[in-house]
Amino acid sequence: MTDTAPRPTETAPATISHWIGGVSTPGTSGRSARVYNPATGQVQGLVDLASVEEINAAVEGATAAAKKWRLVPLSKRAEIMFRFRALLDAQRDDLARILTREHGKVHGDALGEIARGIENVDFACGIPNLLKGGYSEGASTGVDVYSIQQPLGVVAGITPFNFPAMVPLWMIANALACGNAFILKPSEKDPSASLFLAELLKQAGLPDGVFTVIHGDKVAVDAILEHPGVAAVSFVGSTPIARYIYQKGTKNGKRVQALGGAKNHMLVLPDADVNMAADAAVSAAYGSAGERCMSISVVLAVGEVGDELVNAISSRLPALKVGPGSDPQNEMGPLISREHRDKVAGYIGGAEAQGATVVVDGRKQNFESDGFFLGVSLLDHVKEDMDAYKDEIFGPVLCVVRVPSYEEGLRLINENEYGNGTAIFTRDGGAARQFQFECQVGMVGVNVPIPVPVAYYSFGGWKASLFGDTHMYGPDGIKFYTRSKVITSRWPDPSSSRIDLGFPQNK
Ligand code: NAD
Repeated sequence: MTDTAPRPTETAPATISHWIGGVSTPGTSGRSARVYNPATGQVQGLVDLASVEEINAAVEGATAAAKKWRLVPLSKRAEIMFRFRALLDAQRDDLARILTREHGKVHGDALGEIARGIENVDFACGIPNLLKGGYSEGASTGVDVYSIQQPLGVVAGITPFNFPAMVPLWMIANALACGNAFILKPSEKDPSASLFLAELLKQAGLPDGVFTVIHGDKVAVDAILEHPGVAAVSFVGSTPIARYIYQKGTKNGKRVQALGGAKNHMLVLPDADVNMAADAAVSAAYGSAGERCMSISVVLAVGEVGDELVNAISSRLPALKVGPGSDPQNEMGPLISREHRDKVAGYIGGAEAQGATVVVDGRKQNFESDGFFLGVSLLDHVKEDMDAYKDEIFGPVLCVVRVPSYEEGLRLINENEYGNGTAIFTRDGGAARQFQFECQVGMVGVNVPIPVPVAYYSFGGWKASLFGDTHMYGPDGIKFYTRSKVITSRWPDPSSSRIDLGFPQNK
């Protein structure tokens, strides 16, 4: 798809269909959902929503494809991943434009998302090495023991709106390289990126049926969770849905990893470089309009650093350029929907009514557009019992909580229901080391505000930010998408064969 391709208009919304058996497949349920351009507020597409019958048919097709795909040699699977990587690399710009059009994020940010997604394909290109098992020669006399990793069969991924390319790539690259067929149920709010990925996988040589995209809502998700032919489900989204997916999926005997929401705190000690901390807080709070699960939403200002830090953050905000993501001048785009924008704005008034100081009020910024825009907001003197502190706002609102000590900051982080990401800003190596030891959070930054692990580590939070045992992508991803098998083998001399009812032991 190029930028000159015909654009859907409000009068003729494009139909966004499923991808089944390697071809675009119109839905048959008669149900669809609107897809907006968040920068204009206009409907630009109608995405098909799958029925239970359509999910059943998709799983049947994927099951047949999985049986053949697992026979494809590792070297060939790696070759397909290398080709997929090259295609993605060459078409970053086109994919980024799709992200901007449906999600709203600015082009540069969309390119960043794609770069972090491609890292996962890089990792999966090493699949022959990643699936190497162990071998113990002579575990007993004439007996060798070895382990192998086998694919699960058909696995599914259910993904959120905020990273329409990167989060699917967290899952797809490893799941496919491990020899599984994959069914993706992307967010119905920005579904087109998943179809772009499907096209590229086909061009890369992935056999038809191995990768399926099925659009839908709760009906489709429930059908996936109930289908006995789906062996495992990877989910990324909000905590209430993550908890639901984990409970329902595991009850139905599936392997499930379900990543949920977040409330990421940045602890700034009095010895921190204030300008560096302010730059980091602004970047991590307002990038992608705060719609990132690793956004910083709370700054914990310790002791005397508070006033200087709040001044440094607020002085940076007037210069931020908010507007349509297609304009390269802009640094922040709109929110995903009108309802979400209004909900986020509600937290600003709510915090003020509960006693917080509104230092910068994003509601006051005017936009000459019906898009879902909201300016950036900074709230100071936020307290633990305020809604703006307790809830995941998921918008461009940064809360500053003043704390008297490191210990009080740590208490807030550890008592928070979420544990996705956190960061400490300090010049004291000992304090940073102490923090990484005692914080109850899955991903920790030391003078790094958004510590998303590189693809050869794994991504995942603690507490209500992750349900399941394995983190996403990297080594945990390989573990999640395979089952291990241990073989104990003997090629005996037939003359030594005899009956022995005792428990097998080393001889
Ligand atoms: P969401 O939970 O509303 O939706 C996620 C997926 O679940 C979508 O595919 C959606 O169609 C499906 N879904 C929604 N309601 C459902 C229901 N009742 N039953 C079954 N399926 C349902 O999340 P979202 O608004 O798309 O994404 C934002 C959320 O995702 C935030 O909470 C954010 O923190 C979280 N997130 C977490 C991570 C992480 O790695 N932990 C990464 C990205 C986003």
